Amino acid sequence: MDSVQAKYEELAALDKKHFMHPTSSFKQQQEKGPGFIFTEGKGIYLKDVRGKQVIDALSSLWNVNIGHGREELAEAAMEQMKKLAFSSAFATNSHEPGIRLAEKVAEMTPGDLAMTFFTSGGSDANDTAFKTARYYWKLKGKPEKKKIISRQKSYHGVSVGASSATGLPAFRDFPSLAPDFYYVDSSIEALKEMIEREGAETIAAYIAEPVQGSGGVNLPPENYFKDIREICDQNDILFIADEVINGFGRTGKNFGIENFGVVPDMMVIAKGISSGYAPIGGMVISEPLKNELIELTEGVYMHGYTYSAHPMCCAVALKNLEIIEEENLIENVRNMGAELQKGFNWLADRHEEIGNIRGIGLLGAVEILKDKETNTRFSEPVSGKVVEEALNHGLLARSIVYEGQDTLAFAPPFCINKEEVDTIISIIDQSLTEVKKKGIK
Ligand code: PLP
Repeated sequence: MDSVQAKYEELAALDKKHFMHPTSSFKQQQEKGPGFIFTEGKGIYLKDVRGKQVIDALSSLWNVNIGHGREELAEAAMEQMKKLAFSSAFATNSHEPGIRLAEKVAEMTPGDLAMTFFTSGGSDANDTAFKTARYYWKLKGKPEKKKIISRQKSYHGVSVGASSATGLPAFRDFPSLAPDFYYVDSSIEALKEMIEREGAETIAAYIAEPVQGSGGVNLPPENYFKDIREICDQNDILFIADEVINGFGRTGKNFGIENFGVVPDMMVIAKGISSGYAPIGGMVISEPLKNELIELTEGVYMHGYTYSAHPMCCAVALKNLEIIEEENLIENVRNMGAELQKGFNWLADRHEEIGNIRGIGLLGAVEILKDKETNTRFSEPVSGKVVEEALNHGLLARSIVYEGQDTLAFAPPFCINKEEVDTIISIIDQSLTEVKKKGIK
């Protein structure tokens, strides 16, 4: 056995023994061991311990937006850690990276969004938004306004609060989700009926991803968010936009909601704020909400994570946002997003099974269908097989399968070029052709 393979074997054995993986089938881990053990990354590419290189077509977890291997971020982390690795931002304590990052977020976000509470990721940022919405209504003398409405097919995270708001079926199959979470489909009528049934006086907030990510890259119906904004205003319901995937350029604008011409009361951010180089997320609130909280709060709002506004994470995020701006990466998102859509259309011309092409910016998806006319899917999902085949050709893509979805999703790093987009498309073409040859039903 060569030394590279020996290293893999050694790590694989330890992996099975000690490493409990996130979102993992424990049985499969024991049977198969780790597929890739990644060791380095550059641009849109990842390399594993055995030297195999793959294109990271989902920016890992829709988050490595500037691409892998940017040393400036490592330097920003090192500089901050040498000066001050950690200090608390609890109560009246503060630090410059936190202050500067909060200012930057306020500058980038639309409308009157003004003040950020930092977390370590998206789930805790969503929990923070739900808790803060309920706290706000309690301060206003309406503690019964506590229900949170979210959408079917939504994904908001895995903490107890965030998974209780998540509408994707796989996350609902759990014995004890939190109370006071309700779901609607993506129609305005459904929300109106829900408000009618439950009573606006019991509803704290409505939350939605402007463009749903993990649910299959689903765009909202025409004018949907304009109507949502109006209904929330009419019924005194806070509107929370979950921008964890959409935010910081993924859709070709700073934030996903800007594509739909409205401003939410609260925004939830994570992933793209640091391109995954450091774990950080947050909740942004509007100026009026901020002012009311200041006016109404008398005691301490008992909410703060040890790592809220971790100085190193803030410094890394700031550098990441600086790079996105200086290198006009959001413009590249728009241009390469158009190329990706062209590629999807080319695929649909070559394969009658490719349909329901969707996307905005560098967030895109195609469905695999038995019959495009009737939207019928194959009885055995195909997208997973295509992803498996694509791995043999050096492409790490994402399959999304649940009732009503057999989808391939793509969200490559913002630094991608046309040739690389074409490579992704050509590997999918090849992989689907091979899967079809083996037979699909
Ligand atoms: N919200 C959305 C829209 C997400 O896509 C995710 C993660 O994929 C989350 C929230 C949860 O974020 P995290 O995994 O950082 O807790």
